[in-house]
Amino acid sequence: AKEKGRNNYQFYTPLLNARTLDRLKLESDLRLALEHGGFEVHYQPQLISKTGSLWGAEALVRWRHPERGLISPVDFIPLAEETGLIIPLGDWVFAQAARQVTAWRKQGMPNLVVAVNISVVQFRKDDFIQRIEAILKEEGAVSSSIELELTESILMHDMESSIQTLNYLRGQGFRIAIDDFGTGYSSLNYLRRLPVNVLKIDQSFVREMLVEQASLAIVESIISLAHSLGKETIAEGVETKAELDVLTDRGCRLMQGYYFSKPLPAPQFEAWVKAREN
Ligand code: C2E
Ligand code: CA
Ligand code: CA
Ligand code: CA
Repeated sequence: AKEKGRNNYQFYTPLLNARTLDRLKLESDLRLALEHGGFEVHYQPQLISKTGSLWGAEALVRWRHPERGLISPVDFIPLAEETGLIIPLGDWVFAQAARQVTAWRKQGMPNLVVAVNISVVQFRKDDFIQRIEAILKEEGAVSSSIELELTESILMHDMESSIQTLNYLRGQGFRIAIDDFGTGYSSLNYLRRLPVNVLKIDQSFVREMLVEQASLAIVESIISLAHSLGKETIAEGVETKAELDVLTDRGCRLMQGYYFSKPLPAPQFEAWVKAREN
């Protein structure tokens, strides 16, 4: 609006103020929530396609706002990133996930892996590695029980330093997944050099693959690319039996989506696991 001159700018002023106020309120609410425990981590099951047995879970944060109810991460993660609050929030989510996977492993799910989303802001911080190692130690968790989900765009941005960081993390035993795979611009040559375990097929392709031939072709290429590079694949956003069948047939090893379960609070996740065992 600014470039359009003073008159137009004035016209938009009330709206801008309202937005700014809203933002400021949300930011201060975010700080309060961090101090007083207003966040929750929900866990979405990840299954082995062929057998249907439980492989792991993705940790997804939610904000239980006193006035607005449960807020989706898409509505507060960007603000948390802009304000730097993603650092303490990310640490908190990581600690929850580390504690939870350790408890579940002790309770009879010995090989469970919990995947944690890592923001670009966290990953770029100089002390990222030190922070997660300190939390891991504090929670008594083992690195191989944690999968770090990093988006393609985070990794491609500064490829050489990403490779270095990932090499170190892999060496320490962490698992690494490239999230939203296929939506960025991975160079195949760099992909070869990235020490990642899993390519996570973006849900946009899964959603389209049965209605649009091109999306199915992309899904098939990602799976075959992963196989030739010795990596695993997980499909996200699997909502129907038909999608499950096609993905299994094409050799996608792992799956996650509403067809199996929505992300659940830890106690409900445990109940879901028990119910499936019977
Ligand atoms: P994402 O990492 O790509 O997570 C997948 C999203 O798809 C989740 O939304 C999940 O609930 C949703 N989903 C799972 N299965 C299905 C399905 O079958 N159909 C459909 N339509 N959706 C499905 P959610 O939990 O709202 O998270 C949205 C995004 O917020 C995540 O996308 C991730 O980018 C971000 N996010 C969530 N938790 C965290 C976190 O702890 N840290 C950071 N940095 N980002 C997070
Ligand atoms: Ca994710
Ligand atoms: Ca994703
Ligand atoms: Ca996504």
